[in-house]
Amino acid sequence: MNMECDKCGNPIEPGEERQMHGRILCEVCYMDALSPPRACDPWAVHTARSFSKEEALLNETQKKILEILRETHEIEPEVLAEKLGMRPTDLEREIAALRHVEKVRGAMRGRKKVITLW
Ligand SMILES: [Zn+2]
Repeated sequence: MNMECDKCGNPIEPGEERQMHGRILCEVCYMDALSPPRACDPWAVHTARSFSKEEALLNETQKKILEILRETHEIEPEVLAEKLGMRPTDLEREIAALRHVEKVRGAMRGRKKVITLW
C-alpha cells in the first residue's frame, strides 16, 4: 500500500513516513513542521519575531548583545562584557558596530554609562 504525505501529497516510501498530530507527513514536510518556533518556548518565538533580515547580517556576538538587551532593556558595558565573557575593549568594538547600524546606543543613568536598544 502506498502512502501519501498529508501535506504535499508526495508518495512516501514504506518506513519513511513521519507522524505528527495524527497526520502522515513525508520527511521534508515533517522537518518543515518541526522548524517553526515552538509555542511552549516564548523566548524562541519572541526572538524569531523580533529579528529582522538586517539582523541576520550581524555576527553571533552582536546578536547575543541584542538578545541580552531585549531582556534587560539596558545594561552597563562592564556587566555586559562579563555576561559575554569578553574583554571590555573587544565589546567596545561590537557595540560600535551595533551603534553604527542604529541597533544600540549609549545613555547616562546618573553617572553610569549604560547601553540601551536604539
Ligand atoms: Zn510532504
